[in-house]
Amino acid sequence: QARRIPRSDHPISRAQFTPGTLRTLYGLKDAGYEAYVVGGGVRDLLAGQVPKDFDVATNAHPDEIRRIFRSCRLVGRRFMIAHVRWGQEVVEVTTFRGAITDEHVRDETGRILADNQYGTLETDAFRRDFTVNALYYDIRDYSIVDFTGGLEDLQRRLIRLIGDPETRYREDPVRMLRAVRIANKLGFAIERETAAPIPKLAVLLREIPPARLFDEVIKLLQCREALLNLDDLHRYGLLAHLLPVTDAALAHEPYARFIRAALANTAERIASDQSVSPAFLYATLLWPGVVPEYRRLTSVEGQHPNVAIVQAGETVLAQTQQHIVIPKRFSLPMREIWHLQPRFADARIGRAKRLLAHPRFRAAYDFLLLRAAAGEVPQALADWWTQAQAGSLPPGPPPVNTQD
Ligand code: ATP
Ligand code: MG
Repeated sequence: QARRIPRSDHPISRAQFTPGTLRTLYGLKDAGYEAYVVGGGVRDLLAGQVPKDFDVATNAHPDEIRRIFRSCRLVGRRFMIAHVRWGQEVVEVTTFRGAITDEHVRDETGRILADNQYGTLETDAFRRDFTVNALYYDIRDYSIVDFTGGLEDLQRRLIRLIGDPETRYREDPVRMLRAVRIANKLGFAIERETAAPIPKLAVLLREIPPARLFDEVIKLLQCREALLNLDDLHRYGLLAHLLPVTDAALAHEPYARFIRAALANTAERIASDQSVSPAFLYATLLWPGVVPEYRRLTSVEGQHPNVAIVQAGETVLAQTQQHIVIPKRFSLPMREIWHLQPRFADARIGRAKRLLAHPRFRAAYDFLLLRAAAGEVPQALADWWTQAQAGSLPPGPPPVNTQD
């Protein structure tokens, strides 16, 4: 039974939506359709946070949405989504989805494969993942519609799956990652029955297309809550199926320290509006796999450092790509950050000058600082490079520890 909360009884005001969101809502309404803001935008406003964006849901079908708006692109992911453009702003509009029935085609683990039925506001609500993500702001009378108890869960600060948790995770295992991410973003707890099946079902992440996981890991670990997310992913057994190299590293120093230092650093940069790059993030997450292999290749097999670092990197990347595909535009700079690391430990001053001029020097140097902070390389080496990059070459060569 739906609960409708009138404008007078909730704090969301139209002024909190972006101009593009409002134009989209009124465009649909004026054409005779239902239009709602739903999802993270409504959730975050009610939780007192600033939303990233607003998603719109409607009973208009994609071809009808396209007829209403001058600039509209249909993107087919698992489901058709309309992107309505207003200048720089793009608003995502989805048509109400139909109920999941036994007729749906599932794979052997319970994942929904074919899914293209449209539905009503009510069926759409029950298709969403968490109760707090299924609250609809109605542009007709500014009320909020709640079918699933989302308002109560917001007050109790709980992330709760709609329906039977195991069934919903099997339909789409990425929901396990979303539960962790959204709970930490809001400072909420994952409700007990929603949390309980995760360790058992974590292995289902292996069924997810590796490209989709790449984006999810960025959302989880390239944000202010990265450290909380890392610990939860590890605790629930999720990280072992996403990034086995990183998961194993958490049990070994100095690597655990290194990863924590990197994520804390990322969070600080985000908090102070500095840029962060997925290439740098992935370079840190996978580094604990690269180092032992690099050491083996140089000491046991006697390979040259510049050759060994390339080969060690490729080995770790190949292992990782079974779970997560890192697009080339990120994996190339990531490799460069790795490949420059042995060069910091080259005591020849001419080489040091050349390294300073390398286009990827800055990222590689930032990476070196994290290694030093974790105790993986001597602080004196990092200090030497700090002086050098500030424009004053220190009198002696880089203080090189023969082991590196
Ligand atoms: P944020 O945008 O802050 O990351 P969000 O909840 O808005 O969080 P989106 O990916 O933008 O996340 O999704 C918008 C809405 O679509 C969600 O709030 C939820 O209602 C629904 N949704 C997203 N992913 C799923 C999923 N895997 N299963 C069911 N519903 C989903
Ligand atoms: Mg969103």
